[in-house]
Amino acid sequence: MAVPELWDCRAVVFDTDGVITDSARAHATAWKEAFDAVPGVEPPFDQEDDYRRYVDGKSRLDGAAAFFAARNMDLPYGEPDEAPGTDSVCAVAAMKDKIFMRVLDEGVLEAYPGTVRLMLALQSAHVPCAAISSSRHARDLIEHAGVRPMLETVVDGNDVASLGLAGKPDPALFLEAARRLSVPAGSAAIVEDALSGVEAGRRGGFGLVVGVDRTASATSADDLRAHGADIVVRDLGELVGAASEGDGG
Ligand SMILES: [Mg+2]
Repeated sequence: MAVPELWDCRAVVFDTDGVITDSARAHATAWKEAFDAVPGVEPPFDQEDDYRRYVDGKSRLDGAAAFFAARNMDLPYGEPDEAPGTDSVCAVAAMKDKIFMRVLDEGVLEAYPGTVRLMLALQSAHVPCAAISSSRHARDLIEHAGVRPMLETVVDGNDVASLGLAGKPDPALFLEAARRLSVPAGSAAIVEDALSGVEAGRRGGFGLVVGVDRTASATSADDLRAHGADIVVRDLGELVGAASEGDGG
């Protein structure tokens, strides 16, 4: 299946976790361990549903606050530089980061082969690509996954802090990437797996919003469309199309 709209775009901005690298699972695992350690979290954090609804794509602090609000728990907010713990939103967010670093150390995260194929095809078509992430770890993930040479620019959690960008579902991250590529949002595509991310693409007025649905959930593709995805694929290799692959499939 080739999607002509994608090949009409003058630039493509990729989300990182869950779109370029298989790191969404590592984030979900770390969130579960951090949330479930907090007394009174009931039911326990669900790595698929709660992850998608409350934390995916958001900054750590926004995600932690959204989850506790959804469980009707009013933990004190705490201080952003708080030590890892269980008694404030900031402490739980710090705990999640600590656990995530451990999870990263335990295994090598890789780029999805379908994403790499799409990036190579876009490179051949002279369509510049960028990556964005709310995470400060994104640059490391991208370097380790070997896809940095295919990206013109990376906007990550460090830029969020230094430029004062708002987190998803605000489109600021995507708009900064488009600005760096010198392509107006209306002529660019974004690729996202998070509900907050496709919503950001829609709000930012991007020409095409591609949702990536890697979950087995019955409603996840519909949820992505409802939040702003124009098309939803299971894997980005689907967008490369049979013609480019030359395998007739
Ligand atoms: Mg993501």
